[in-house]
Amino acid sequence: MSNKIRALALFSGGLDSLLAMKLLIEQGIEVIGLHFDTGFGGRASEEKKRYLQEIADKIGAKLEIVDIKEQFIQEILFDPKYGYGKNFNPCIDCHANMIRIAKALLPRYDAHFIISGEVVGQRPMSQRFDALKKVENLSTADGLILRPLSAKLLPPTIPEQKGWVDREKLLGISGRSREVQMELAKKWGIENYESPSGGCLLTDENFSKKIRDHIAYDSFDVEDIEVLKWGRHFRLPGGAKLVVSRNKDENEKLRSLTLSKYILFSLPLPGPLSLISKNTGPEDKELAARIALTYSKAKPDETYEVSIGDETFNVSPFASKTEAQRYFIK
Ligand code: SF4
Repeated sequence: MSNKIRALALFSGGLDSLLAMKLLIEQGIEVIGLHFDTGFGGRASEEKKRYLQEIADKIGAKLEIVDIKEQFIQEILFDPKYGYGKNFNPCIDCHANMIRIAKALLPRYDAHFIISGEVVGQRPMSQRFDALKKVENLSTADGLILRPLSAKLLPPTIPEQKGWVDREKLLGISGRSREVQMELAKKWGIENYESPSGGCLLTDENFSKKIRDHIAYDSFDVEDIEVLKWGRHFRLPGGAKLVVSRNKDENEKLRSLTLSKYILFSLPLPGPLSLISKNTGPEDKELAARIALTYSKAKPDETYEVSIGDETFNVSPFASKTEAQRYFIK
């Protein structure tokens, strides 16, 4: 490897992370954007990867996707030291976790320090001044984390003290106004970046309710992340989870999942694909068949043969969706 100064960036794909990276690239520093895939990022993953690659190329950074789904579920999601934000988002612990992993990866990339697009005071939980300190302590990467967008408001970091980075060329942005960021994006021709307000799915109220419901009945595994993203979700009286797709796209999504805890079933007429928990009794399966039929063109006065796994049920749909909606996860 060359003697070039190299930084690993926490690269969410949002504008702040892009600008933080670009500020250092402008100083001649080589930046490798680490995108941590917790599984809870919004877009479908192939589409997301394409977007990240395009936007990293645009600013002249390298991209590495780091799959941390399993580790995030095992170590962070259900036991965050600093608790949750408004929903199921453990932002402080999540940030600290990414920094900890980035720190451990420094030798592999022959990199010198870590950068993050955090802005002091921008978000209620993860980016208050004291929260930045907590992240730093929890991540055990003291002094190695440079936040180029707010650097002038923060104590000098090791990369600034050692002269690897010119502190004068960094920024002193704080608060929620995004004016400076928008101007910089315009100056550098950065377009089509992800919406600045978007946290991951864990910040979404409905998604968080589905997680809470899920863990009341079942262990939470990597495959559950994708299951929770698609379809209408029902909890049946015997404890089974039922997912009924809402359209053709979701049919394709459900069909593409690798499942060990769920059975995928279709109907004997055009309609939604559905998933039901594998370990469940015939009552829940029969009810699942009725609910799924209710979201198809099936007629309430007719009986249909629906197969779920190796069991077959002769059932009719409910007369109205309202009856099926009693089992919605709310
Ligand atoms: S919004 Fe999601 S990905 Fe971002 S820090 Fe919070 S928990 Fe982590």
